[in-house]
Amino acid sequence: MPRASQQTPILDDPKLWAERIVGGERAALARAITLVESKRPDHRRAAQQLLTALLPHTGAARRIGITGVPGVGKSTFIEAFGLMLIEAGHKVAVLAVDPSSGRTGGSILGDKTRMAQLSVNPGAYIRPSPAAGTLGGVAAKTRESMLLCEAAGFDVILIETVGVGQSETVVSEMVDFFLVLMLPGAGDELQGIKKGVLELADMIAVNKADGDNQKGARAAASHYRAALHITQPVGETWTPPVLLCSGLAGEGLSEIWQQINAHRDHLEEEGTFEAKRNAQQIRWMNSLLTDRLTGLIEEDDTLLAEKQRLEAALIAGETTPASAVEELMDALQASLRRSS
Ligand code: GDP
Repeated sequence: MPRASQQTPILDDPKLWAERIVGGERAALARAITLVESKRPDHRRAAQQLLTALLPHTGAARRIGITGVPGVGKSTFIEAFGLMLIEAGHKVAVLAVDPSSGRTGGSILGDKTRMAQLSVNPGAYIRPSPAAGTLGGVAAKTRESMLLCEAAGFDVILIETVGVGQSETVVSEMVDFFLVLMLPGAGDELQGIKKGVLELADMIAVNKADGDNQKGARAAASHYRAALHITQPVGETWTPPVLLCSGLAGEGLSEIWQQINAHRDHLEEEGTFEAKRNAQQIRWMNSLLTDRLTGLIEEDDTLLAEKQRLEAALIAGETTPASAVEELMDALQASLRRSS
């Protein structure tokens, strides 16, 4: 690539930057993710042009979500798992969804200090969670960053999250496989985790199954097997395996990778892999649309005041939710007519 073109700003020539990303230039990837994370309207437009140019190069990666309470060993696990995959010839990107990150200091940093070896490995790319915002906003940016990483040739994308609000659900909606890490010890754990998480899991791995923890890890595994048996939805054809592993000792990691591949084969054989990704795309579009429509109301002072008035009327028993929405839609349409 000639020097002059390397200095072309990303806003001026998204197509050129798309080529640089596909060519595997890390600096171009980092710059593109920063663009995707920006709120400026001109940045948003350029980011969409860039993503559109890159679409043909996306979709080939294994997309894996990883969750677990703080201290379960996520970063230790991701470091060991990532290094194992790189050793086997893969390129691994690690992204995070943590809506509590940013000013308040989140629980996921996704940063270099947590994954010291992986972060300096040329086969890995680690990017912390986009700064605090709404969960939907943070997730949308991570989703777009995932596409950029795929275009840059990363064939395994690990998306880490902690159980903040609905973050697990949101991450499970952008990946092919959702891995839940649990702690050894049976009995109390189920109370510490949200029951809904078991329904999202494609696999549970009881981590830290090393040294004195091994007995407790086996007990926890039987516990979760029984719990999954109860929560498994009718008609579901994949029974989430419950495995033991130790990120610290590097044990059980290749079995986890085998199961991730078995799950993919299962979906392909069943003919549901494409359908799953397509449904995710449609739900993503719909959630962007909902955010956009809500934004039209909440970012307009008059409409916001009208919405608040209707909320008060609703509580006072003067209107119904459906009539309130009718009135608000009339006000929105009038506002759109005025501005067009
Ligand atoms: P995270 O908060 O989920 O990212 O957890 P960390 O990876 O930072 O680990 C939390 C603590 O658990 C650290 O003190 C780690 O050394 C320890 N730890 C992580 N993985 C393992 C493991 O596989 N076995 C044992 N025994 N300890 C671990």
